Amino acid sequence: MKKSFLALILAILMTVAFMGCTNPKTQEVSRPIVIQGAMDVETQKLITQLKNVEEITYGGWKFWKGTIDEFPVVVAKTEIGMTNAAASTVLAIEKFNPIAIINQGTSGGHDPALHRYDIVIGKKAINFGSFRSEHSDYGKGINSEEWIPMDINVSINGEMKELKDFEGDAQLIKAAKSVEKLYKEGKVVEGIIGSADQWNRELDRIKWINKQYGTSVEEMETASSAQIAKTYNVPFLGIRILSNSEVHNEGYDRNSGEYCQQFVLEVIKTLIKEYSK
Ligand code: SAH
Repeated sequence: MKKSFLALILAILMTVAFMGCTNPKTQEVSRPIVIQGAMDVETQKLITQLKNVEEITYGGWKFWKGTIDEFPVVVAKTEIGMTNAAASTVLAIEKFNPIAIINQGTSGGHDPALHRYDIVIGKKAINFGSFRSEHSDYGKGINSEEWIPMDINVSINGEMKELKDFEGDAQLIKAAKSVEKLYKEGKVVEGIIGSADQWNRELDRIKWINKQYGTSVEEMETASSAQIAKTYNVPFLGIRILSNSEVHNEGYDRNSGEYCQQFVLEVIKTLIKEYSK
């Protein structure tokens, strides 16, 4: 009687210990990678790669949940612009609890060393639409070159901080760099992704932004998603292809969205191997 009681206690203890060992891992594995793109041309190819795909809508934002190589992946269509990107990222984090977020898609070149179809891995994302100006009187004009870049207020661990930019996650950057040789449409570089609700075509302005912030490219979402990911402490990376470069008079090509997704797919497959170890 006593012996079997002890055996029962032992069995319970072992089960609890076993659950303690395995549970966190299982949980970790079930957290998906979220891949964001603003438009169909930036998301459709990735969606076709998902197995057992389920389309989910929250408010005005769509998500496709499935698996790649048996690992959970959610493709999010953020829609265009900073506010849409932020809202979609909050939803992605609250609803899917991702292990990492990759924001990817098209962009316009700022760095003269880069051409259409080159890819920028975002060592940093920066919101270049945030400015203040000094007082000047009526009739003194609008002197945008004099505007002063303003830091972004970000909630980190319950405290408001002012940040200049958002760093890409080191493990995600490493995974992206490890597959750069597989990309044949252009070169792959590390750089700074600039985001704002702007499409700039004035070469002097592009040059000014590039000088002021070191931007490799401009687009309308990455820094906004990065800000939300930072608040939730979720590893984040921006990956952007040049779909156009005003600097070189290279016009928008929608195929670039597909090239970027192809590259990002390789990055994801590498990450999945790492997460599954
Ligand atoms: N020309 C496209 C519409 C692009 S709207 C079409 O007709 O289908 C802007 C979107 O493209 C945003 O999601 C932004 O992230 C991206 N983008 C690409 N190149 C850009 C550039 N030069 N400046 C700003 N955003 C750009």
